[in-house]
Amino acid sequence: MIHKFFRRYFSQDFLVPSASTELRIIPRKQHGVARNRISPCAIKITSGLQQAGYSAFVVGGAVRDLLLGLEPKDFDVVTNATPEEVRAVFRRSRIIGRRFRLVHVMCGAETVEVSTFRGNSFTNNNNETVTHKHADEHGRILRDNVFGSQEEDAKRRDFTVNALFYDPASEEIWDYLDGYDDIQAKQLRIIGTPLQRYREDPVRMLRAVRLAAKLDMQIDTATAAPIGDLAPLLQNVPPSRLFDEILKLLLSGHAQICVADLRARGLYNGLLPMLDMVLTQSLGEHFITLALKNTDERVRQEKTISPGFLFATLLWHEVLTAWNTYLASGEKSTPALHMAMSDVLAVQEKKLAIPRRYDAIMKEIWAMQPRFLGRAGRRPFRLLEHPRFRAAYDFMLLRCESGEIDVEIGHWWGTFQHAKVSERENMLLKGEVSKKRRRRRARSEIVTRNVGNINTSVSDTAE
Ligand code: ATP
Ligand code: MG
Repeated sequence: MIHKFFRRYFSQDFLVPSASTELRIIPRKQHGVARNRISPCAIKITSGLQQAGYSAFVVGGAVRDLLLGLEPKDFDVVTNATPEEVRAVFRRSRIIGRRFRLVHVMCGAETVEVSTFRGNSFTNNNNETVTHKHADEHGRILRDNVFGSQEEDAKRRDFTVNALFYDPASEEIWDYLDGYDDIQAKQLRIIGTPLQRYREDPVRMLRAVRLAAKLDMQIDTATAAPIGDLAPLLQNVPPSRLFDEILKLLLSGHAQICVADLRARGLYNGLLPMLDMVLTQSLGEHFITLALKNTDERVRQEKTISPGFLFATLLWHEVLTAWNTYLASGEKSTPALHMAMSDVLAVQEKKLAIPRRYDAIMKEIWAMQPRFLGRAGRRPFRLLEHPRFRAAYDFMLLRCESGEIDVEIGHWWGTFQHAKVSERENMLLKGEVSKKRRRRRARSEIVTRNVGNINTSVSDTAE
């Protein structure tokens, strides 16, 4: 008891080299999670493995979420059976992954990932955690494919709340690392020595920020302490892994809090260049805050989110700056915008930040923006028919909301798209003139607005 009190309140690296590993089994009547909350597929798999003589549990995020009253995204199963042994139990299954082999077991439309208990570090007789030998010069683990015991499997996980095992047969929760108490205390605590665990895998720092926001938990003091100093380690993480993790963070439904927290903890050095810009400069800050808020609301309402749309918002003010530079050097509006878009995307590509598959949607959304300003003749009708109209329209509304363009334009398009054809004709701005005169007028009517420190050239007749 006293030991626990010390560990919880005075937890320091030098006091606690590794977490306690006494197994605590929590019965159903205490934790309250009934087996009918587990997906039928996961139950079928754990019972199938148990009948074949193996041990099998639901593990990780699903157990944590159920204890917190959240809906799990997916159910993962762990077992002491090897991938081949799992494969032999289930007809509809396949082994995936070359480096770390897992089994995907299919039931109907559902697929559950089954992994074998893993161990990658252990505590020696001096109570020190011994680093895995397949690590780079910063201690980052490169290979993580050694089978281990259930206890080792718990210890190689990231946070205590993610290391709980649920047995659907007995409805018991098995807890080696006091994760259950941490869930009750709403405390996110890394397993083992924080410094070393972040060195092994710097992505855990981002996971700490994301999970604390998602689970509404406090990051424990010792767990949070080294984060700012170790931020540069993120530069050694492969860009694709970093991208996946940032995407998870941005689409978590808590992007606004996460981004504010990343900034507060100094955790931006080496993140996606796109996010570095967002976190270090005030460029378009209001616009980005609105975009993140809007994304969070959509996620919570279970609406679809297009990552391309989100990246387009994060980079928009870079595009605007480059666009204005080209305009100032005498380029025409449309070619200037296209050159600006290409420049911004080229920087992202060079740094392997955003996969190229998102380029097309970002470009379309950006390129359509000036077209919302043309509200005469046939142009509004043509714009409505564009397959990306909806995304570009939502984007334009954010520009209205941030004060970049007149809100009246947003209202006009809101009414126009839902109006009857005859009403639409009446809404068109009058004074349709010849193309030549229109161009001449456009040049003379260009309004230069100041948006923060950015000059945006807009014209009601811009094409
Ligand atoms: P969510 O799915 O809600 O984002 P999660 O905790 O389930 O959260 P996953 O990425 O699905 O996250 O990981 C499943 C489990 O694998 C985690 O609960 C944790 O036990 C373990 N895990 C994931 N990432 C790491 C990591 N970087 N280091 C150690 N263990 C990890
Ligand atoms: Mg998960």
